[in-house]
Amino acid sequence: QNAPVITIDGPSGAGKGTAARLVAERLGWHLLDSGAIYRVLAVATEYHHIATDDEEALIPIAAHLDVQFNISSEGNSKVILEGEDVTDTIRTEEIGAIASQVAAFPRVREALLRRQRAFRLAPGLVADGRDMGTVVFVDAPVKVFLTATAEERAHRRYNQLKAKGYDVKIGRLLDDIRQRDERDQNRTVAPLVPAEGALTIDSTELSIDEVVSQILAFANEKI
Ligand code: C5P
Repeated sequence: QNAPVITIDGPSGAGKGTAARLVAERLGWHLLDSGAIYRVLAVATEYHHIATDDEEALIPIAAHLDVQFNISSEGNSKVILEGEDVTDTIRTEEIGAIASQVAAFPRVREALLRRQRAFRLAPGLVADGRDMGTVVFVDAPVKVFLTATAEERAHRRYNQLKAKGYDVKIGRLLDDIRQRDERDQNRTVAPLVPAEGALTIDSTELSIDEVVSQILAFANEKI
């Protein structure tokens, strides 16, 4: 319970996932991608034919979510839901949008708290998401708020999707990002805001290596 935690919160597409993974690798710490849990829940609602606005029905699904995060023999991390590999399924824009809808329900978030806190193990944890520093790990010694302009985030997402061979429109991606920001920032429970004492890093003009160095330097000061 007392293992140190570095929290990295921020809007989607700011580079939290990559930064968190690299920081965790550099320190040899555990990694929690909390967005993946909300995404898995989104997939589970489809498996169980539950309407994404049916809070009562979502709660038991969240509480009993049968999810595993496995490292494959090639060193990639695999996400398994009810025995099925959903690693790629959870990364679609559609699932991201559903995840942000189900994440708006306070009791759904509550049902996922214990599962997230269980990742806090020695020698330490790097946790990325929206409310890692404000709700889930309030006593974390190192808190980072990683952001970038919506345009830059849409641009990065566009390049990622194009590299995978998807035909996407940047305007559409920008609209999606703005909608998701709006929902994540304005919800009543665990809205996306910098935690008290958080170091805010705007990654718009920074490389991922620069972001990682700034986080490690800040962590060094704090721990
Ligand atoms: O970070 P990612 O895009 O994978 O997260 C998907 C959605 O899950 C977010 O848009 C957000 O609504 C929700 N989420 C959350 N709290 C977290 C992580 C993700 O509400 N800690």
